[in-house]
Amino acid sequence: MYYTLLIKKKYNFSGGIKCLSINTELDNYIINYIPYPKEFFVHVKYNTLKKNMLRVKINQKVLCGEPLTFGDCLSVPIHAPTSGLIKNIEFNSNCFGINKENIKITIISDYLDQWIRLKKINNYKLYSPQSLIKIIYRSGVVGLGGAYFSSSKKLMLSINKVHTLVVNAVESDPYITADYCLMNNYLNEIFIGCEIISWISKVKNIFIVIQEDKIKLISQIKLLIQNKPLFKICIFKKKYPAGSSKIIIQSLTGKDIPYGQHSIDIGYLIFNIATVYAIKRAVINGEPLIQRIVSLYNDKNHLSKNFLIRIGTPINFFLNYLKIKNNLDYMIYIGGVFMNNILIDLNYSISKDINCVLIRKYEKKTKKPINYSCINCGYCVQVCPVNLLPQKLYLHSKYNHHEKAKSSYIMDCIECKICEKVCPSNIPLVKYFKREKIIQNEIDTEIKRKKMFFNHFQQREARILNQKTIVHENKNDFNNTNLMKFSVLEKTSKKEFVNKQEIEKNIRKEILRSSIERAKLKK
Ligand code: SF4
Ligand code: SF4
Repeated sequence: MYYTLLIKKKYNFSGGIKCLSINTELDNYIINYIPYPKEFFVHVKYNTLKKNMLRVKINQKVLCGEPLTFGDCLSVPIHAPTSGLIKNIEFNSNCFGINKENIKITIISDYLDQWIRLKKINNYKLYSPQSLIKIIYRSGVVGLGGAYFSSSKKLMLSINKVHTLVVNAVESDPYITADYCLMNNYLNEIFIGCEIISWISKVKNIFIVIQEDKIKLISQIKLLIQNKPLFKICIFKKKYPAGSSKIIIQSLTGKDIPYGQHSIDIGYLIFNIATVYAIKRAVINGEPLIQRIVSLYNDKNHLSKNFLIRIGTPINFFLNYLKIKNNLDYMIYIGGVFMNNILIDLNYSISKDINCVLIRKYEKKTKKPINYSCINCGYCVQVCPVNLLPQKLYLHSKYNHHEKAKSSYIMDCIECKICEKVCPSNIPLVKYFKREKIIQNEIDTEIKRKKMFFNHFQQREARILNQKTIVHENKNDFNNTNLMKFSVLEKTSKKEFVNKQEIEKNIRKEILRSSIERAKLKK
């Protein structure tokens, strides 16, 4: 009875926008395949990896699934998507408009697709959570919903801290169908993945979150969870952006995840459906993460097809195979309709965090859209799913009122772009928010650095004071000339007693000196 009531209840959230459903015929959920290219370009984000963490060198032969990099506490290893030869390793390749550093590893395929020896596991319950987490780490599993966060790290943090696993089966963008395609084809394997995660984290509930229009999948899930008391299905209203983890947790529990914290901190471990599947493949099949499902979406004719693609496949190759000529006819974006980033280099390749390639026919625009001033209409406030005041945030960001922007919770913005879409003045709001967030992060780092310097300084002062006290107390016993060489101690011997004011004066002096040094460094 409780179960029936639960599935009848539809979870909702304030704000957001309803989107027109695209044609969700079954063939949208069929997995399509493309042949392997001759050259794979594996991009490694430099900011999560140090250059000396490469495991391969130029002209080295590699097997499919062989690790190309060492991981560390922040990043997971990245694996060869096929067997072949390392042709080139390039640093600082920059593929998006933004200046992000990358390492680009070019692999020439031998078309044999020879795999490394995979270590399969039949009964994962014979392994400790820690050893399963190690396997997941070595397999290079990261959040495939776009977060790119190491899944092993998330699992490690969750042990003895969470009571509920939330499986996010809501697509972040309403027109991407990659996750639904995956569920349609591998639902049983996804359930095994859920069980592995619950074995590791010892959760007491597993919530599968899905949107109301996925009727066929909902009935399949209902059948599968019939005799599994651990599982519950939670149905969400069809709205954008229901896929954000912040919104899911807020809708399920009524609790907000405070800025700087994670859902784990309030007892919820949240994984995207594709990540759960990758965890199953890593543990049971011993497979490293070298491929993912990517939606190809055309917003003009609402075409959405899904392809199982190896990581490192150049986007140019993918588009050529589909006879989508080049960027003179089409504009190519990464991400769905809302989150799109224009791609300026078609030699960029599919990476673990790409779930959609969006194509738009190039249209010559006679006029650039004009951005008018904010008219305070409040449309943006009505749609914001995290209850922010976008027009205020805009003004604070534009005029560099950093304190006010912070106190208006700019860091809670999930950059869903709905406010921007509904704005009648065409203001590129999220562009301002992104810039302001970068500044806020810089301010935060500076404050932390100052605190750290100040702590170090206080510790040093305490040490010196301690020495002085010892010297003063044992003045008569100190004949050690070496010790007296230190200027501080020399001074001490002259002074009977060091008062608090003097220390504070020294602290101020030291702060001034270190800030002058920092200013010089900046120059
Ligand atoms: S982009 Fe930020 S401010 Fe705008 S609607 Fe989304 S969460 Fe709210
Ligand atoms: S929707 Fe645009 S014009 Fe209206 S209040 Fe928000 S920012 Fe201003």
